[in-house]
Amino acid sequence: MACDFASLATAGVRSLRPYQPGKPIEEVERELGLADVVKLASNENPLGPGPLARAAFAACGGSLGRYPDSNGNALKAALARHLGVSETALTLGNGSNDVLELVARAFVGPAHEVVFSEHAFLVYALVTRAVGARAVVTPARRFAHDLEAMGSAISSRTRLLFLANPNNPTGTWIAHRALETFLQAVPAEVLVVVDEAYFEYVEEPEYPNCVPWVTRYPNLIVTRTFSKVYGLAALRVGYAVSNPVIADLLNRVRQPFNVNTPAQRAAIAALQDTEHLSRSLALNRSGMAQLEHGLQQLRLRYIPSVGNFLCVDVGRPAMPVYQALLRQGVIARPVDNYGLANFLRVTVGRVEENGRFINALRRSLRAS
Ligand SMILES: *Cc1c(COP(=O)(O)O)cnc(C)c1O
Repeated sequence: MACDFASLATAGVRSLRPYQPGKPIEEVERELGLADVVKLASNENPLGPGPLARAAFAACGGSLGRYPDSNGNALKAALARHLGVSETALTLGNGSNDVLELVARAFVGPAHEVVFSEHAFLVYALVTRAVGARAVVTPARRFAHDLEAMGSAISSRTRLLFLANPNNPTGTWIAHRALETFLQAVPAEVLVVVDEAYFEYVEEPEYPNCVPWVTRYPNLIVTRTFSKVYGLAALRVGYAVSNPVIADLLNRVRQPFNVNTPAQRAAIAALQDTEHLSRSLALNRSGMAQLEHGLQQLRLRYIPSVGNFLCVDVGRPAMPVYQALLRQGVIARPVDNYGLANFLRVTVGRVEENGRFINALRRSLRAS
């Protein structure tokens, strides 16, 4: 007799829909019979990893038969030095998404509420539902997190609050003073995750580095990743900085070998490659200016962004525009699932990739 497995899944899991990633290049080339497809859909570094990380990865062949260092000692030592924190403050993840999920699994259950903003990174909603908790989504203010609304949404059931700084897909950010004032007011038993996936890109003087704050705010967890500016998205490595008691609890739910050996070695090398970091930041700066200029010429509005991506208001439902871009071999990201149906998110690419996007967008808008 057939079994209704859906009825066996937890209510939280039943309510989930899978995360929609950016469309892979190979898929678009196969489906549309195109070559030379440009992907500006997942906020990857268009240069990929730097030479030091590439070399470290290439040297891993002899180690593939052994389990990784479960504790990630060498990477933790490198990160501790890089960040000026104790190794006991660190939790390594299979991407920072892994760490976001560890926080939910370690601390949140069906009796709890998790607060995050409208237009915030979708993984917050996914991990909240997966553990059966209630998501409390506060309205955004001009596309940005409204800290006042988020503070007011905290109840006696609130266990966790997610802030993306800057946020993806909007590129909006929270300034030092506002964030510090907010953290001071959050009850001590409410955990606050500040997701700094794009930390390295931000050049605003008022943008806060929250890592040193974890000693002052025991309920603060800061997450970062090697997937974005360090160009290691395929290897899946990210981390959290928190007080050591929280790190110890996260370590209990963590899979013992969640970060593989090539990822650990490449991440250590990436931290040392300051030249590649500067090159990547310079490319992003000029590419952002190029995209902004192109969009202004098309008379399109966009949300000012401090990351390596831009949310563009195409002034009409964005899905057909996304499809028209695909047919021209340009993959952008529709963000209707973020409540932004008229917007497309585009990653800052190399000069010629940005040019391809702007030209394809011009044609798409003319055609529709
Ligand atoms: C890309 C991204 C992440 C992390 O992705 P990982 O590859 O899992 O490290 C986390 N938060 C935000 C807001 C992101 O955009």
